[in-house]
Amino acid sequence: MAAAQRRYFAHPQHLLLRTTYKSTSRQACDICCAKLSGLVGYRCNACDFDIHEACADYFKETISFFAHPWHTLTLSCMPTENKGSICDLCREVCPTGKFVYRCIQCAFDVHPLCTLLPQTIRSPLHPQHDLNMVPATGHCSACREDLDVWHYRCGFCLYKVHIRCVSGVPSSGASQITNAAQNNALAQRSRSTAVTKFLLKQSFMFTINLATGGLASPVLAVLEAALD
Ligand SMILES: [Zn+2]
Ligand SMILES: [Zn+2]
Ligand SMILES: [Zn+2]
Ligand SMILES: [Zn+2]
Ligand SMILES: [Zn+2]
Ligand SMILES: [Zn+2]
Repeated sequence: MAAAQRRYFAHPQHLLLRTTYKSTSRQACDICCAKLSGLVGYRCNACDFDIHEACADYFKETISFFAHPWHTLTLSCMPTENKGSICDLCREVCPTGKFVYRCIQCAFDVHPLCTLLPQTIRSPLHPQHDLNMVPATGHCSACREDLDVWHYRCGFCLYKVHIRCVSGVPSSGASQITNAAQNNALAQRSRSTAVTKFLLKQSFMFTINLATGGLASPVLAVLEAALD
């Protein structure tokens, strides 16, 4: 039996109340930014703070992450003065008031969901070899546009591809960073089409479950439920 209230490290000032969100609820999770409607989460009424139970259980206060191996990353609320800060992995906006994993020293920010992106995957676009997430420059072998710093690359034949292109599921509007910087709502929508589509692709889900020992599967289930 889950507790009706819980303390949560990322919102230490108040106890959070266990809540089953109505199917018409418009609240979104402050960690993963996906909808809470029809799902169980924890809420602080005073601060309008909401999180999925799955996200509260899975996302730890500090993590070590392959894309920033030098320092520990800390789950932090994006301060309102940091308008326009973007995720170092997917290059989309980190909305103010929502959570990111940060290294303050290096100004490295990454969406909590982007920490689920596996270091090594097998893509349907390039099934013959493993692809690794690396930082470099060049052009995407799928869409021909400039690559973001972090992307997936084959070590054998130099096939390279955007995170948003690698699943083989086309997502429109994911690269409009400059416009999206002014608009958190738009940023959230495009992220739900790019990274979420990636995370929910069957073969990648398998890889993520392997990498996390199955611990992330409740988060993937929540994303799946929030998508439709
Ligand atoms: Zn969540
Ligand atoms: Zn509060
Ligand atoms: Zn991201
Ligand atoms: Zn650092
Ligand atoms: Zn691409
Ligand atoms: Zn290859």
